Amino acid sequence: MPATSSPLVAHLNEAQQRAVTLPAQHALILAGAGSGKTRVLTTRIAWLLSQGDCSPANILAVTFTNKAAKEMVARLTAMLPINTRGMWIGTFHGLCNRLLRAHHRDAGLPQLFQILDSADQLAAIKRLLKTLNIDDEKFPPRELQHFINAQKEAGLRPEAVEAWDDYTKRRVELYREYEAQCQRESVVDFAELLLRCYELLERNEPVRRHYQGRFRHILVDEFQDTNVLQYRWLKLLAGGEPPASLFCVGDDDQSIYAFRGAEVGNMRDFEREFHIQEVIRLEQNYRSHGNILDAANAIIRNNAGRLGKNLWTESGAGEPIRIFEAFEDKDEARWIVDEVQQLVREGALRADIALLYRSNAQSRVLEHALFSAGIPYRVYGGLRFFERQEIKHALAYLRLIANPDDDTAFARVVNFPTRGIGARSVEALQEAARTWNTSLYAAVPHLSGKPGTSLGHFVRLVENLRRDTAKLQLPELVDHVLDASGLRAHYQAEREGRERLENLDELIAAAANFVAEAQADTDALAADHALLADFLAHASLEAGEHQADQGMDAVQLMTVHAAKGLEFDAVFLSGLEEGLFPHENSIQDPDGLEEERRLMYVAVTRARKRLYISFAQSRMLHGQTRYHPRSRFLEEIPEGLTRWLTPQHPRSFAQESSRGFYQPPRGAFSSRAATPPAPKSTQELPGGLRIGQLVAHARFGKGVIIAAEGSGSDARVQINFGDAGVKWLLLGVAKLEPC
Ligand code: ATP
Ligand code: MG
Repeated sequence: MPATSSPLVAHLNEAQQRAVTLPAQHALILAGAGSGKTRVLTTRIAWLLSQGDCSPANILAVTFTNKAAKEMVARLTAMLPINTRGMWIGTFHGLCNRLLRAHHRDAGLPQLFQILDSADQLAAIKRLLKTLNIDDEKFPPRELQHFINAQKEAGLRPEAVEAWDDYTKRRVELYREYEAQCQRESVVDFAELLLRCYELLERNEPVRRHYQGRFRHILVDEFQDTNVLQYRWLKLLAGGEPPASLFCVGDDDQSIYAFRGAEVGNMRDFEREFHIQEVIRLEQNYRSHGNILDAANAIIRNNAGRLGKNLWTESGAGEPIRIFEAFEDKDEARWIVDEVQQLVREGALRADIALLYRSNAQSRVLEHALFSAGIPYRVYGGLRFFERQEIKHALAYLRLIANPDDDTAFARVVNFPTRGIGARSVEALQEAARTWNTSLYAAVPHLSGKPGTSLGHFVRLVENLRRDTAKLQLPELVDHVLDASGLRAHYQAEREGRERLENLDELIAAAANFVAEAQADTDALAADHALLADFLAHASLEAGEHQADQGMDAVQLMTVHAAKGLEFDAVFLSGLEEGLFPHENSIQDPDGLEEERRLMYVAVTRARKRLYISFAQSRMLHGQTRYHPRSRFLEEIPEGLTRWLTPQHPRSFAQESSRGFYQPPRGAFSSRAATPPAPKSTQELPGGLRIGQLVAHARFGKGVIIAAEGSGSDARVQINFGDAGVKWLLLGVAKLEPC
């Protein structure tokens, strides 16, 4: 059958079909947001398998998040009746973790090594500085963490880092000490996962050959955000005899991880080093309505040095982008919640609505407003499930069971719940560990006196936990640990402990869920506590992706970074203020500003049908009220694409109602040619209503119509219901009675 008549590609456009059905060769697909890159990549896997030339085991696909990996597997199974088990689909970190577990000895790691997330890593660095008696003002821990990660991401071990000045030399020494500490404790940070895996493949020929032989097709999504080491890792895996085909899709305009070492330059290097004859470009956007796409194109046009793409859509202009100026962040949140409720009333699924923001700190006020209105929501990122205090404590006990030498876990719970082990005892223990060059756990027998006794009790507690749980199933194991550690009793006694107890129960549910999934996986390890180690790795890698309210139709909250690759019918983008978006750290730096603009491009292009953008004149952030002018990115959106909604703060009612509707707020785009209609307090609205009229609503009671917008079935009125607040209601739906 000719390639393009396969039913798999029947619904794709010509360029997409060509990309999907390329012969086994290296390829680069460079295309803008929503042009079907991810869809092409997934379909290509199905197509390769359907050709019968390769099996699922020959496929390695790198996605950007675990969520994306799961979606890809689900789509593949829908396309082809295949067993996806042998296929390796995951994030760089997830794939490296898998490889290191399978070859832990060759990689110089114990089988049950633990993964440090970024917060654990910082804690480990602080602990190191303390042990070495180093002034953390001279060597701020966060900076050191950044330095160490940057070296690792560049593939550099301490001996390979070039250091000319004393300060850098000292930092390199600390990097070396940190490595020794991690090795002693059998822990691995995120950057180490990659570097360790890369070194394993590079140095161990049999292992390398095995995987080079196995993976015939390597496919990478979001290629623009790979860092130098990830690119080298890909080159190594693809570089067998014969080489695998490396199929990369990406968009230079969506490169948003330069701050973490991602290199758009990898795209150019890839083209050159792999002799890509022709870069395939996809130009039709299937995601967004025209106004949204035009806004995105207009914004990104302000960046220099782009590889250049032009996106178009067949789907028509759609609705204007709604822009709202609020007095305060709280009003902004309230407005968003009102609009969300409106959408839901109009039949939208909550899961198709996303609230995006530049920084995690912005989520709190949105969460509060959603919570108060009783709207189910789910937060990706921020303080995620696995990052909550009580969960971290429980995980620390579990980690000690898997690996008692894990000093980070040891230090976290040695005196939690309190058991009379003071800071002085812990210091004595750290000293002993240093002297004997062992982990904290192994150093306990070297202590005498009171510290020796109290710490001895703790060691026995951990030993008992290890012994008593050896034969338990994972969920029972977690349950047992919650009781035996005293954590449950601790939170039961705490006044505000109910939610924490619920979260701890949720951890048992998460373990049960994990077991159910792992049993379907033939790679599950057999050793005692091995499943536990897998579960802990999963907790570190997938933090936030298994939240309590999963399965429920919930509004999605996340940072713009976390929204990459995703799409939603309606997107609310809040906090469009200078200093927030673009972020204050980037405003002074042209490269930083361009990265912020790419981030804005990512944000705008997440929306399919409706885009709402808002900003507030004042905002509480980090305990301070801030006043920021609105973002320059707003000015970059052509005015014909937008519709400004008036501020709706009740305090401004008298003023605003006399200014009428559709009117840009004071000072906004004063040079605009399109002047909104003048206020007409006597204007007739559908159903014989007028602005200023008193009406009754079944739920909210009596209120005054203060503004109106839209026409036909989209006609809406804003009503001040007094105590019930100010609401926008759809005239066709709201059933208002004049009174
Ligand atoms: P991003 O850059 O944001 O990751 P992308 O290029 O990966 O976007 P996809 O997510 O693959 O784009 O596709 C965007 C949307 O368009 C999806 O809903 C996808 O199913 C749809 N789509 C892609 N190609 C086609 C097509 N040929 N016909 C109809 N819908 C399509
Ligand atoms: Mg994509």
